[in-house]
Amino acid sequence: MSIEVVRIPVLSDNYVWLARESESGEVLVVDPAVAAPVLAKAEELGWAITQIWNTHWHPDHVGGNAEIKAATGCTITGPAAEAERIPTLDVQVKGGERIAFGAAEALVLDVPAHTAGHIAFHFADEQIIFVGDTLFAMGCGRLFEGTATQMFDNMQTLAALPDNTTVYCAHEYTQSNGRYALVAEPENEALAARMAEVDAMRLRGEATVPTTIGLERATNPFMRAATADQLAERRAAKDSFKG
Ligand code: ZN
Ligand code: FE
Repeated sequence: MSIEVVRIPVLSDNYVWLARESESGEVLVVDPAVAAPVLAKAEELGWAITQIWNTHWHPDHVGGNAEIKAATGCTITGPAAEAERIPTLDVQVKGGERIAFGAAEALVLDVPAHTAGHIAFHFADEQIIFVGDTLFAMGCGRLFEGTATQMFDNMQTLAALPDNTTVYCAHEYTQSNGRYALVAEPENEALAARMAEVDAMRLRGEATVPTTIGLERATNPFMRAATADQLAERRAAKDSFKG
């Protein structure tokens, strides 16, 4: 059993993730901002979409739900706490559940802060996690509906996963995050080396996502914050950072 994941860049900087579980042939879409490019990619691959999983209610994560469901009859799973804002949900989860994707199984993690009901999906056996807008390459989500303490707890939860866990986040924010990260941790050599690589990749027009838990533990100033207060300071500084 294995999970193949395909990146679909949409809008200005969103990534929709299309995944196929090999044993069952089930196909999952994570956070479809829009429908058309997702349906087109699935058709190109010959993949029949069976499920959508949403991490949170923001339109750039659920905007394609209705159209993909109408086209495929797929089942949509997302956060119970945000069900009123995601009227297309079939299955509500709040964290702690194990949910099936073909022969694979993900644990739902409750990671509030960016939104109050934000969840993530962790496939422990496959060492894959879909984190929506909670963790980014060298960054974390803005605190729209939660506190720095909640985000600090989320960072601790994610940092405890195995280093080689592949992290699928929902935006290409890496270069901007990295510019701030260099200010937060000017002496972090792993960070400087990563940023040189990221700058080169962006010059070539390449995506810098997915990332890994190990790389984030070494270079992400939010995951590396020692306390919730330090995370709060860094989040506030990044919010007004012009880099
Ligand atoms: Zn969001
Ligand atoms: Fe987003």
